[in-house]
Amino acid sequence: MNILDLLQTSPPLLIGISTVLGLLVGSFLNVVIYRLPKMMELGWQQQCSELRGEEPVHSEPYNLVIPRSACPHCHHAISAWENVPVISYLLLRGKCHGCKAPISPRYPVIEAISGILCGFAAWHFGFGLAAAGSMLLIWALLALMAIDFDTQLLPDDIVLPLVWAGLLLNMNGTYTTLHDSLLGAVFGYLSLWTVYWLFKLATGKEGMGYGDFKLLAALGAWLGWQLLPLIIILSSLVGAVVGIVLIAAAKHGRDIPIPFGPYLVGGGLIALFWGQTLTQNYLQLMAQ
Ligand SMILES: [Zn+2]
Repeated sequence: MNILDLLQTSPPLLIGISTVLGLLVGSFLNVVIYRLPKMMELGWQQQCSELRGEEPVHSEPYNLVIPRSACPHCHHAISAWENVPVISYLLLRGKCHGCKAPISPRYPVIEAISGILCGFAAWHFGFGLAAAGSMLLIWALLALMAIDFDTQLLPDDIVLPLVWAGLLLNMNGTYTTLHDSLLGAVFGYLSLWTVYWLFKLATGKEGMGYGDFKLLAALGAWLGWQLLPLIIILSSLVGAVVGIVLIAAAKHGRDIPIPFGPYLVGGGLIALFWGQTLTQNYLQLMAQ
């Protein structure tokens, strides 16, 4: 019996291994969340100096692998035992081993969310392509959520491959038919694009960014056009509640844009697991 047979026949093993995989990838997601926006900024600076006809600046290589992770305060290199998801943070009591500077609790939180969601996906979908694909979607969405929250950017480097991956996975109907997936990508983009322009013509302000349209296109490609209204309703509900709380707490001016990406991610994850059920129940209610 090989490992795939074993995973297929033992749900607890499948869920356990998926959770561990989620924790490990969650640790890498923290690197992506921290470095990708900086890599994009370096790229833009290089393009700008090229446009101005300046000599190219030769800087130290900076990507997802180089340099090695280090404490931002004392530059103490993070060793393997300090890099075990969640556990290291608990053992270190949230402080750097070198200088005792506090480590952001966001690192173990991202790792834990990734682990829990991957374990849940394994339980929800069972052994197969749907579970494996949903883990890819979970990782991409978690990275996008945190990057948008920090920088109000949704990097094309993550969003566009997500669109193609959704279309490819649905070639044999993993989550929906290829027909509904294709329409989902097109309508996902066009629906928010239309809202954006209507809002801009009516108020002269920009309510969201092009990254949001592409992210909804990706969710449409994964889950099909039928789930788009649900995703928009769910993300607007969460967004409205959080926005009202922030404005009421006077921590956020009315004119400062609140990134919409994190709410789209929330809506998308709910739709991934319960979208079909929620839409069917709603349609049944309406038919009565
Ligand atoms: Zn340190």
